[in-house]
Amino acid sequence: MILPSVGRGGLGFEPPPPHESPEREELFGLIERHAKALPRYTSYPTVPYWDAEFGEAEYVDALDDAGDAPDQPLSVYVHLPFCGKRCYYCGCNAIAGHRAEVVDRYIERLSWEIEGVVDRIGVGRSVSQIHWGGGTPNFLTDAQTARLFGMLESAFHIEADAEVSIEMDPRVATASQPPLLKRLGFNRISMGVQDFDHRVQVAIGRIQPESDTVSLLEWSRTAGFESVNFDLVYGLPYQTSESFARTLHRVVELAPDRIATFSYAHLPQVRRIQRAVDATGLPDNRAKLGLFLDTVEVFEEAGYQWIGFDHFATPDDELSVAARERRLLRNFMGYTTHAAPDQVAFGMSGIGCLAGRFVQNDPRIKNWEESLEAGHFPIVRGHRLSLDDQVRSYVIQHLMCNLELPDDLTSEPFGAPMAELFARDLPGLAPYVEEGFLERTATGWDVTSTGRFFLRNIASVFDAYLVDSADRPTFSSTV
Ligand code: SF4
Repeated sequence: MILPSVGRGGLGFEPPPPHESPEREELFGLIERHAKALPRYTSYPTVPYWDAEFGEAEYVDALDDAGDAPDQPLSVYVHLPFCGKRCYYCGCNAIAGHRAEVVDRYIERLSWEIEGVVDRIGVGRSVSQIHWGGGTPNFLTDAQTARLFGMLESAFHIEADAEVSIEMDPRVATASQPPLLKRLGFNRISMGVQDFDHRVQVAIGRIQPESDTVSLLEWSRTAGFESVNFDLVYGLPYQTSESFARTLHRVVELAPDRIATFSYAHLPQVRRIQRAVDATGLPDNRAKLGLFLDTVEVFEEAGYQWIGFDHFATPDDELSVAARERRLLRNFMGYTTHAAPDQVAFGMSGIGCLAGRFVQNDPRIKNWEESLEAGHFPIVRGHRLSLDDQVRSYVIQHLMCNLELPDDLTSEPFGAPMAELFARDLPGLAPYVEEGFLERTATGWDVTSTGRFFLRNIASVFDAYLVDSADRPTFSSTV
């Protein structure tokens, strides 16, 4: 073990080793040794293992089952794919530059989709979490935004303390948006920043003057938003330790409440748009990991708490509190404390989880629209979770969020200790215990400071779909 675990309490973890230290060298070596293409475990099983035969009939069954639990709150995701212009590094389901009437038509179809769902699960169901993602949700005009939010208000009962969040692009934001969003009931804004460095921005086809980010931040604060998140991306072309440090320190000065850092996966053969990225300046794996270690160092030094693998939040933020108390959750919308057991998704490519089934909408706008026009739900794949899937999903999620593997799963619906449920899997932990990624406690295993970089490796021990699978899909690399 190269970094000590400090276990429970406090902010939980030692900062990473400083630049060019022997400890950092040792960590690089470990990461190279354990590098594997592994899923990010946003869901278990992961999307590539879902069933393409799962269609509308199965979705209707799931909705009807969810309708049998009318008092259970829901999470709601709305996918809004429109963007001003496509960024070269984009890995999202996004569509560039559409006219207002195309967006209006999309919103109309969303209303049909919402109506179809509510017809089955019941009108006025409580909602504890709403997230608008994309694409660029603030590509909508104020009138379109108000119309869409009104549709959700008519269909659901949004709880007074619900988490209501939206992803925003500072480049298309206007001064009128944050006050409107606040009036409607949004309480969290997440904005894409990626990197303030101009050369990096040119290489990724996303020129975003710092003044755009600062303006949206100021408008949001003035409108009364107490929770603002910045998204950063590391591993982009021309990012160096020095250039990225300038971005990190500027972010600290601007003081968002949360920061999410995403690893750039350059996969031009899968994502055609990435062929436009200036790949000559891409950092190698070691440099990329160095960028992430610098990120942890700067943000922890600035007082942020490191959450999960790649998020940061102020110590009094509810994510930080939940992480310290080991009750943090994660769903398709990210880390949260408000996730409901069932999540309904609207819009092209939207992913839901209802009554023990994962379900995904068609990611092609034309197909999504045509299905709804023909009176059908636009489902392209899904998965019904077995009891085995559910217990593995719980353990993997708990590990990724709360950095522990508890012995006692008897209080969960699974009704047996881990040693019994995972008798065949637990020996797979041995190499990670030996490397010092996990340490035994009186109640289970804690992930150590070093082990934090290997969460996906540890989680994969519990992934029954990876074992002996010759046709494993390709996932992005560990860091
Ligand atoms: S704004 Fe976001 S979703 Fe839209 S193209 Fe750029 S990276 Fe993709």
